[in-house]
Amino acid sequence: MTAEIIDGKAFAAGLRERVGAAVPAFHKASGRAPGLAVVLVGEDPASQVYVRSKGKATLAAGMQSFEHKLPASVSQDDLIAVVEALNADDMVDGILVQLPLPPQIDEKAVIATIDPMKDVDGFHVVNAGKLAVGEEALVPCTPLGCLMLLKDKLGSLSGLNAVVIGRSNIVGKPMAQLLLQESCTVTVAHSRTKDLPDVVRRADIVVAAVGRPEMVKGDWIKPGATVIDVGINRVPAAEDGKTRLVGDVDYASAAEAASAITPVPGGVGPMTIAVLLRNTLVAAHRRVGLAPPAGL
Ligand code: NAD
Repeated sequence: MTAEIIDGKAFAAGLRERVGAAVPAFHKASGRAPGLAVVLVGEDPASQVYVRSKGKATLAAGMQSFEHKLPASVSQDDLIAVVEALNADDMVDGILVQLPLPPQIDEKAVIATIDPMKDVDGFHVVNAGKLAVGEEALVPCTPLGCLMLLKDKLGSLSGLNAVVIGRSNIVGKPMAQLLLQESCTVTVAHSRTKDLPDVVRRADIVVAAVGRPEMVKGDWIKPGATVIDVGINRVPAAEDGKTRLVGDVDYASAAEAASAITPVPGGVGPMTIAVLLRNTLVAAHRRVGLAPPAGL
């Protein structure tokens, strides 16, 4: 079997279009465009790239983008004061503090300051708790994007065996909660899991969010399974000494066994920003008491 490629890039483009198309109606009803504020601390090159592309995508969707750049030496109190000002700013519907933060700052304390209604990353404990008990929440962008791709490919996920590899608060745990909500039988595997290949072999759905290049091999994949590769790993390329991006799944061998698989790049990666825009639009609607548009 050679797997069908799940084209996250195309799906993300469609989602961004649908979000953009819903902005004028929100503007008409509320008198303003939805607004996303991104706070960047320090000069980490990868974070700068992410923040720049988030800002561009926000504007392209017709939303307002607010960027706050703070020096790496900023104190926790000063950063929290910026977040509090954004909480109080009515033009701001979504607040994203780009992680990681410098060592003098407690990430948890900063995230806890974000108004849960504006927590478009879905990292606040209120949103994590709401997701866990099945209440309306803002859900972390990457796992929600993975779920969208899975539902688009498979339709109903009910009764399927899903194995999530990785238990981070950002990807693995919310992914498991989302799959449980879809009535999957969910196993969460992690660094202490015994016989991981055997655990993965039981899965109709495999979501790999580990951060280890090409760890999941093709002979771990049950024939016909659907594989979602969240990993983004930069490895040296043998040919030219440059680096290349690979996922947590050994794509070539896994594609022989799976029925569908996300590539890296071009799979899950583009979904994250698209879902961030979606979350911002949803947060904007909820904040002004409007129902978010259906089908997002
Ligand atoms: P993390 O480091 O916080 O968590 C990794 C998880 O993998 C841990 O729970 C750990 O228990 C598990 N793990 C580590 N080694 C393992 C092993 N040998 N066997 C089984 N499990 C093991 O990472 P994260 O933030 O969840 O990110 C995971 C990957 O996803 C990274 O490659 C990251 O770059 C990528 N990522 C991509 C996006 C995106 O937009 N596509 C977003 C977030 C993260």
